[in-house]
Amino acid sequence: MSFSTLVQDIAFRDSRSDERSSQISLPHSVARSYASTSATSVSIAGDISSQLHGGYSHPLTRAWQAERQLTKAMLIYPLFITDNPDEETLIPSLPNQHRRGLNRIVPFLRPLVAKGLRSVILFGVPLEPTAKDALGTAADDPAGPVMSAIALLRRNFPQLFIVADVCLCEYTSHGHCGILREDGSLNNAMSVERISDVAMAYAQAGAHCVAPSDMNDGRVRAIKLKLIEAGIAHRVNLMSYSAKFSGCLYGPFRDAAGSCPSFGDRKCYQLPPGGRGLARRAIQRDIGEGADIIMVKPASSYLDIISDAKEIGKDMPVAAYQVSGEFAMIHAGAKAGVFDLKTMAFESTEGILRAGAGIVVSYFTPEFLDWLST
Ligand SMILES: [Zn+2]
Repeated sequence: MSFSTLVQDIAFRDSRSDERSSQISLPHSVARSYASTSATSVSIAGDISSQLHGGYSHPLTRAWQAERQLTKAMLIYPLFITDNPDEETLIPSLPNQHRRGLNRIVPFLRPLVAKGLRSVILFGVPLEPTAKDALGTAADDPAGPVMSAIALLRRNFPQLFIVADVCLCEYTSHGHCGILREDGSLNNAMSVERISDVAMAYAQAGAHCVAPSDMNDGRVRAIKLKLIEAGIAHRVNLMSYSAKFSGCLYGPFRDAAGSCPSFGDRKCYQLPPGGRGLARRAIQRDIGEGADIIMVKPASSYLDIISDAKEIGKDMPVAAYQVSGEFAMIHAGAKAGVFDLKTMAFESTEGILRAGAGIVVSYFTPEFLDWLST
């Protein structure tokens, strides 16, 4: 039977689908074609484009369905660096992640770099009791953990792209992301001045990228202007945490970085979880202020925002941070037998890429370096 005859037969059968019993009276050949194609007849009767399975029946053709496939170059690995050079402490709420001192970082990273690690993002964790004050003075201490780590990593791993997170909350006595007024609210002008100075210090120390995560208004512009004035804007990437939402997914990170606010919360500068329009405005603003990369954080609960970021910033890279709480949830789910860890790590990351990100800050980076090699 030719294909067109088959379609005609099926169309005829479909037109009488409310009279199933009537097929008994159809000519013998029609009845037989109905029987032999019953499994697919509904879709064959419709548009030919309804036949999709052939397009993804092979592992490779399934991979080709993705606009972006996860590669090692997309991954940025977060590192927590303490001011105690020999420390290597497991962070209980953040599975397999450690706080490390300067003496521990290079031996830890060497095998990862050999496996294809391309980028890290540095978070300083001062543990000395005297390290914190109201201005976050330790943030750009030349002998502090981040400034020292930048130089150390540049020396040991010339190919590694070093991102320095820029914020004050790890260094302020009150744990907020800027400088406060007497009433406890954020003094935006003073905070921007201080944050941009810290960003400049990291850039001068050799960071390839500075990434302000503080969410003060206007800090991207202030940093870009200082980079231009210093004559280093051409070699320093500015990645803005543009759409950083407040919420409970940062708990394990705050354990890791010791950056929990001593009073209040961050809801007056981080975005409210329902604030899609606000996020779009923040993204537009940061692009206008000179950001080179736009970041959305957290990732999996904010896939629509990642998609918005890619639409608004379609000519620039979009990054997403799969934050500590997301990572810990995946580990907890796997431990409870809900799903397989590796499968869920890929599934969640592929969702982030599908939404529009081309860069993922991920605690799964060491595992991905292995998984993507096999
Ligand atoms: Zn902060």
